[in-house]
Amino acid sequence: MTKGVLEGLVAIVTGGASGIGAAIAAKLHAEGAQIAVLDRDIVGADAAFAAFQADVSDRASVDAAVTAAAEKFGRIDIVINNAGIGAQGDITANDDDEWARVLSINVTGIARVTAAALRWLRKSPSAAVCNTASIASTTGLPQRALYSASKGAVSALTRAMAADHLREGIRVNAVNPGTADTPWVSRLLDSADDPAAERAALNARQPHGRLVSPDEVAGAVLYLVSPLSGSTTGTCIEVDGGMAALR
Ligand code: NAD
Repeated sequence: MTKGVLEGLVAIVTGGASGIGAAIAAKLHAEGAQIAVLDRDIVGADAAFAAFQADVSDRASVDAAVTAAAEKFGRIDIVINNAGIGAQGDITANDDDEWARVLSINVTGIARVTAAALRWLRKSPSAAVCNTASIASTTGLPQRALYSASKGAVSALTRAMAADHLREGIRVNAVNPGTADTPWVSRLLDSADDPAAERAALNARQPHGRLVSPDEVAGAVLYLVSPLSGSTTGTCIEVDGGMAALR
């Protein structure tokens, strides 16, 4: 049997109990990585993975979970900052508390988790971080003001982290998924009067006529955290069915 490209490495995956995070965890695991899922709700986490309950907006819970993961596996080589939440509406739709909450999860959460893992990443010969941004990072999506602000910040943070940790051998990249077929999107569709019709309309609005699959996002993440992309840092792969190309 051939060895996976991540054999012997340990990856933390935030939001790894559902959707894109679960697909990333499965993909990295299939390539030989041991997986520590960090999620505020670990019920859905695959039993093949170690799961640590943590809220990325709470520094104490992040520190405790990252320490517990490092103690269990003895190393951390890869950090996948994928946990995130949505927000709808224009700039008047969310109050200051909601702006602070979303930015704390989607943006500061990345800094908290990566900072907690930094001393382990510095020891790894294969250190890599991948952040889940969004097409909202680069496209003006209507009625997504707060969410877009948070994901634009993820892109900028990705480049800044890449620059800061370049000489330490820690690569930092991101993916920009288009609308992906996850429980998050299903929840939104299920709240419509006619979920099937809404899903068909959503598919039709995508450049390639369908939603992005979480596994396709995971494929890009695998490339970005594996030695296959050893000279790639501070960049982002669009997994959006061509949406960025059509802008
Ligand atoms: P999802 O709701 O299916 O899964 C998100 C996971 O993150 C859940 O397990 C949830 O418990 C966890 N989580 C949420 N807040 C957390 C917190 N504070 N601390 C720890 N864990 C937390 O969502 P998804 O669609 O898989 O989205 C995952 C990421 O992908 C998000 O960052 C999202 O912004 C991004 N994204 C999603 C889409 C899409 O269309 N689904 C498109 C672009 C980007």
